[in-house]
Amino acid sequence: MSLERQSKGVDLSALQEHLCGLWSRKEQKELRQVLASSFSQMQEPLAGLLDFLEGCLTVQKGKSTVLNQFILTEFMRWRTNNAQASLDVLREEERLRLQKRALSLLTDSHPGYMDALLEIYQLSSLKTPLLLEHVDFLHDCCCFKEALMFSVKVELQKDLDMEKMCVPLILLDKLSLVELYVRDHPDLQQRLLKLLDSWCEPNFDIQALLSRYPNVVLSKHQTHQIQPKLLSKHVFRLMEKFCIDPGLCSNSVYKRKLDSLRFLMYKTFGEKGMSEENWRDHVQAMIEGNAELQIQLVQLLVKHCSLKTAAQWAAHYNLPRNRLPLGVWDKIQSLSPKQLEMHAVSGPPESWIPLHSDQQKYYQLPLSRENVHFVETLDEVEQCQEAVLKSGCVVGMDMEWRAGFGTVSSQHVALIQLAVQDRVFLLDLCAHAISHHSSTVNFIRALLSDKNILKLGYGMSGDLRSLVSMWPELREAPMKMEGVLDLLHVHQELQRCWLGNKGCRSVEVSEGPAEKGLSLLVQQILGKPLNKTEQLSNWERRPLRTSQLRYAATDAYCLLDVYLVLSRNPKAFGLPEDLRCIPSAQQAKSREEKKPKEKNKQSKRREARQKANEPHSVDDCLKLNSEYEGPTITPPELRVVCDNMLQGLGRFLRCLGVDVKMLENSDDHKVAAELARAEGRVILNAGQPYQTLRSQVGEGRCLTLDCSEKARDQAMYVLKHFRVHLTTADIFSRCQACNCNEYLKLSREDMTRMMRDRGLLQDIASERDDCEPQDETRAEYNSWRSPEGPMFTPLCRWAPRTALDPQTFRFPSGAEVQLETVPPGLLDRIPVYFICTGCGKVFWEGTHFDRVLSQFQEVLHVSEDAATDA
Ligand SMILES: [Zn+2]
Repeated sequence: MSLERQSKGVDLSALQEHLCGLWSRKEQKELRQVLASSFSQMQEPLAGLLDFLEGCLTVQKGKSTVLNQFILTEFMRWRTNNAQASLDVLREEERLRLQKRALSLLTDSHPGYMDALLEIYQLSSLKTPLLLEHVDFLHDCCCFKEALMFSVKVELQKDLDMEKMCVPLILLDKLSLVELYVRDHPDLQQRLLKLLDSWCEPNFDIQALLSRYPNVVLSKHQTHQIQPKLLSKHVFRLMEKFCIDPGLCSNSVYKRKLDSLRFLMYKTFGEKGMSEENWRDHVQAMIEGNAELQIQLVQLLVKHCSLKTAAQWAAHYNLPRNRLPLGVWDKIQSLSPKQLEMHAVSGPPESWIPLHSDQQKYYQLPLSRENVHFVETLDEVEQCQEAVLKSGCVVGMDMEWRAGFGTVSSQHVALIQLAVQDRVFLLDLCAHAISHHSSTVNFIRALLSDKNILKLGYGMSGDLRSLVSMWPELREAPMKMEGVLDLLHVHQELQRCWLGNKGCRSVEVSEGPAEKGLSLLVQQILGKPLNKTEQLSNWERRPLRTSQLRYAATDAYCLLDVYLVLSRNPKAFGLPEDLRCIPSAQQAKSREEKKPKEKNKQSKRREARQKANEPHSVDDCLKLNSEYEGPTITPPELRVVCDNMLQGLGRFLRCLGVDVKMLENSDDHKVAAELARAEGRVILNAGQPYQTLRSQVGEGRCLTLDCSEKARDQAMYVLKHFRVHLTTADIFSRCQACNCNEYLKLSREDMTRMMRDRGLLQDIASERDDCEPQDETRAEYNSWRSPEGPMFTPLCRWAPRTALDPQTFRFPSGAEVQLETVPPGLLDRIPVYFICTGCGKVFWEGTHFDRVLSQFQEVLHVSEDAATDA
């Protein structure tokens, strides 16, 4: 026993041995008593604690970490009643000495010490140069994550080099930590975005970057993450999150515009789903002033359209000859000036009465052109107001804004449509005379807050968000929303009712592409869907085309018709008498999710704001998931059958709770079609037999996936396509191996007993039946370790204990618990196990869960803090 292991009053080596013994025998009460009395015996407890921890570092590196974290928590508890353990009573030099020692314990070998040591030794109060020195030290040891977390906790960001701190972690695929680092620093947010955007440059040299960080060693996966496609996605996500000017991220914007250009080419010349006129509107607005994009457009036109069109555009933009694709210059020379002009699509002026075929196919606006009023002057606003602001009136309300191709989603409302029984008003918010005039704002405010006027909308939160961002006065003097009915919520309720009656949800089957959102509701209630061909049009062009006017008016007017039918006899649709009392799915959910948790500053702020507002404030409505344009479904409501080429995807989806049948290698594709029909499943396939399958099951019931994509990206695509609302509780709610969604929950003690029974545990002596005290210790340790961490409570069915045969360890399915897959060492760390009753596979919360969680962050509703693996 060496002398260094003495701390005035206590023999540390003996103490450590004693504690380890108690710890392994799980004698928690005794452990606590020994600790408390040892702390009290120490003449200098703060120094003693460090003596102890430093000793452990050399004696038992790594092994004693869990015990030591327990000791640190116990010290904090003990210290509250023992003033002698306060730094404040120490002399300046003594205090500094202790602080420096505590600092040197904060390395990667003990990540769990950080919070406790920061608090006990008040490390944030140290002088900045000292703290910076420690950050440097961590960095030099390649403890990039610890260096970053430490600097966040002591708030050093302003004094550090952002690039040096963050680049290694970005490279290591830990962007969420970097987001934490810049969270409260707008200037750093800007610099981070500029940096990420610079990596999206076409000839960006990743090797040159890596050579500047020789200490960062990347896995193949991590290297793969550094590519423009993924990076620019992050840039856009962060641009919105931090409200950054897109002008700072020109590479990402260029890339996205180019992607949009390709999409529009395909949509117009490939799929023929967009009129050329409509296409031209978008393209012109998008490539205005960007010669590089103009050249790209000409190249695309040569490929997908015609040399002549390409020549017209090239001449229009005066593009330099040496940048033109082969043949374009010659074509320009061969055409007369007249032929080079880009004409509007020829044909007679559009008539208000749609084509006969359209009338057959789509819901029709029952109004003539004279009853659709375009409002662009203050006088007209007044007339509109007189017609709409009437007690007892029902108003259909909708808004249009330009599809934000190639930019951060544009929030500028171009048009507000207000429909009353015999006419529709189109408020032109591009007209300067009225767009920001107080008369207009006050009119809309009065309309939205008058409880005697019923306002109908569909997915109104998105509209309102745009409105508020355009008219800040609505936020400055918050508007109290009254008399608003969002038919989206009614639609969701309807879908739930129908789901309940039929037992299986119908993903609508129809000849064409499946209807969604409002168009689906209109089809369900009024018999025909909406004509959506103008939906993606340029709503900022003036004058609007006739078909745009008709589309805009129809979108608002159909709400009146739908409401009329539903409110006449709500019961027939399974709806409550008063449609207004239907809560939104998100409202119900958010109530559920408001469980006590460690809260971060932001959520506290948010809460304070909530309290300050009335329940029907704009903010409240905005909170409700505005991204959803139509009703959403839960993962178990999505039932699919997966091609054998998509096994990875299938397992992923099961992991997220989706009901997945998988084809065996030998199965014919007919099997998929049969399953789809018999069990109401949607087919996910990898391509080849798509045409045949589609003809067998209908277009809406078959989705083709890109085989070259990663399973995670495919899964993301499927979730978005079917509008699946995913929550953390869905993760692992279904067995990846067999698709069963029933688990049996077993405690560590049960697992231990069963494994011992099967001879899978060697040191029987150390295991005891009565493990209660240890459980408490663990629970405490766990709750202290990760107060914000997600708890693993999958939304599955739970089997009763009796489902497991105590002799054979088999379930009624015949499956036996796969005990041999549980590493005995795990029992010490993991308190709860989930066993699939279908196949006996054993699951537990751990890194796998975290990984899945982080992969689906984009579509999950997880707090920022929980998303970092700090
Ligand atoms: Zn299973």
